[in-house]
Amino acid sequence: MGKVAIIGAGFAGHTAAMYLGHKLGRDHEITMISKHDYFLYLPSLVWVGVGHMRPEKVCVPLRPIYDRFQVRFVHGKATSVHPDENYVMVDKADGTGLQRVDYDYLIIATGPRLDCEGTPGLGPAYGHTLSICWLDHAVHCRSVYGEYVERMRRGEKVRMVIGMGHPGSTCQGAAFEYITNVHKDLVRLGVRDRAELVWFSNEPALGDFGVGGINSKSRNGMLSSEEFVRSIFHEFGIEWQVRRGARQVDADRIYWEGFDGRFGETQYDLAMLIPRFLGGVLQYVGRNGEDVSGRIVNESGFVIVDGYYGLSYERLMYTPEAWPATYQNPNYRNIFAAGIAFATPGPISAPHVTPNGTPITVAAPRTGMVSGTIGRLVAMNVIGLLEEGKMTHQERMTEMFSACIASVSDSLWDGAAVSMTVFPTVPNYLRYQNKYGRDLFSTRMEIGLAGAWMKRIIHTTMLWKASGKPGWQIIPE
Ligand SMILES: Cc1cc2nc3c(=O)[nH]c(=O)nc-3n(C[C@H](O)[C@H](O)[C@H](O)COP(=O)(O)OP(=O)(O)OC[C@H]3O[C@@H](n4cnc5c(N)ncnc54)[C@H](O)[C@@H]3O)c2cc1C
Repeated sequence: MGKVAIIGAGFAGHTAAMYLGHKLGRDHEITMISKHDYFLYLPSLVWVGVGHMRPEKVCVPLRPIYDRFQVRFVHGKATSVHPDENYVMVDKADGTGLQRVDYDYLIIATGPRLDCEGTPGLGPAYGHTLSICWLDHAVHCRSVYGEYVERMRRGEKVRMVIGMGHPGSTCQGAAFEYITNVHKDLVRLGVRDRAELVWFSNEPALGDFGVGGINSKSRNGMLSSEEFVRSIFHEFGIEWQVRRGARQVDADRIYWEGFDGRFGETQYDLAMLIPRFLGGVLQYVGRNGEDVSGRIVNESGFVIVDGYYGLSYERLMYTPEAWPATYQNPNYRNIFAAGIAFATPGPISAPHVTPNGTPITVAAPRTGMVSGTIGRLVAMNVIGLLEEGKMTHQERMTEMFSACIASVSDSLWDGAAVSMTVFPTVPNYLRYQNKYGRDLFSTRMEIGLAGAWMKRIIHTTMLWKASGKPGWQIIPE
C-alpha cells in the first residue's frame, strides 16, 4: 500500500486529493493535511468583500467529502517536512499537539503566504489597508466598506484606492473585479458621486494582469486589454495610477516609487491592496536535523520543480520548455508542488528595475484554473507512479489554456463580466510567431451581461465539483 500526503486543500491540493481518493482511496492511504477544514472558493470573495454574498456561500466543508473519497483528513498546519525520512509534522488544529504523517509521495499545495509584512503598514492584521485574499480578510473588508458607504450616505466624500500593495504583487484580476464591483455597488446605492475611485498598480501598463496583457482579434482589428480596461475605467470614472510600487503605507497614504525612479504619495480614506505572495512557511529538515530547504524551495519559499531557473527574461520568452512540465522536485523526486506553491522560472510580464535599483515586476499569476489543472496533472502522475511505476502526464504553462471571467457587477439583470480566454497562458513565441506569442483564434476578450451569468454559473459548478457531487470529473478545473 502506497502513502500519498497532500499539504493544502485549495484549488490545487483539493483537486489532487479528489482524483487520488477516487482512483486510489480504497487500496492506498491518501492523506490531506489542511489548516482549514473547508475548501474556500476564493474568486467569490470579491462579492463577499462588497457585501453581495454571504461568507458561508463560498465554503465547502471538507471532512464529509474526504470520507466519501476515502481520503484521511488531518486538520492542522504542516510545520516541517522531513524529506530524507518521508514524513511531515502537523500541528493539529484541535490543540492536541503534533502528529506525524508518513508518505511515499508528497504534494505541496500550500498556495500563497500573504506577505503583508513585506510592505510596512500594509494589511488588515497589523497595518492600515484591507484585503480580500482570504475569508476573514474579505469579511473585515465588507464591514469597513459598509462603514464608508454609511459616511457617504451622510454626505461625506471618500477616496478609495484599490490595487496592489507591493512592487512584486500579483493577482491584479481580483483587485480589478473588486474596484469595478465597488463602482457598480456605489451606483446602485446612489452615492457614486461621493466616491473617488483610484486604481493603483505595479503593472507596466493598464490591463497587463501579470500575463503581459491580452490581445485579441476584434471587428476593427486587434484589441488590447490595455484599451479594454482603459475604456471601462473611463466609462466608470475610475482614475488609474500604474507603474508604481508601494513601498510603505500609513493611515491615509501610500508611499510609492514609480518606474522612472520618482517617489510620491497617494492619499486614501479606504484602501484595498493585495500583498505580495510568497511561498509557504514550512521547515525542511534533513536526516541529521540539518536545514535542507535549499534543495526544495527558493529564497521566496516556492518549491523548485522541473523548470529551468536563472534564465534572463529575454531567453525565458524564447525557451518554452523552461516552464515546468511535471512539477516534480529534482532533488527529492517523490515531492511535487501544485498551484501557487511551485516556483515559476520567472515572470510572464516584462520585469522592470527603476533607476534606483528597485525591481517593480508583477509576479507570474497562477489562477484557479491553472492551479486546479496542475493539481490534477500531479495527481495523475502519482497514480501512474503507484500503479505503473511511471509518470504519464505533463503540461507546461506555455501549453496550457486558461479562462478567466472577471466580474464587473454581479447582478444578473444589469451586471457584466469580462470573459477572457488565453492560449497559451505563458506566451510561446516559438510556436506562435506573432508579436504576442499566443494563438489569436482562441485568445479572446468580451464584456457583457452574459459574462455575469457565466461567472455565477461557474461559482455554482465549481462548488459542485469541489463537493465531489455526481459528474464532478467532467467539470473542467
Ligand atoms: C479575491 C480573489 C479572487 C480570485 N479570482 C479568481 C478568478 O476569478 N479566477 C481564477 O482563476 N482565479 C482567481 N483567483 C486566484 C485563485 O484563487 C488562486 O489561483 C488559487 O486559489 C490558487 O490555488 P492554490 O491551491 O495554489 O492555493 P489556495 O487556493 O490558496 O490553497 C492553499 C491551501 O493551503 C492551505 N495551507 C497553506 N499552508 C498550509 C500548511 N502549512 N499546512 C496546511 N495547510 C496549509 C491553505 O489554508 C489553503 O487552504 C482569485 C484569488 C483571489 C484572492
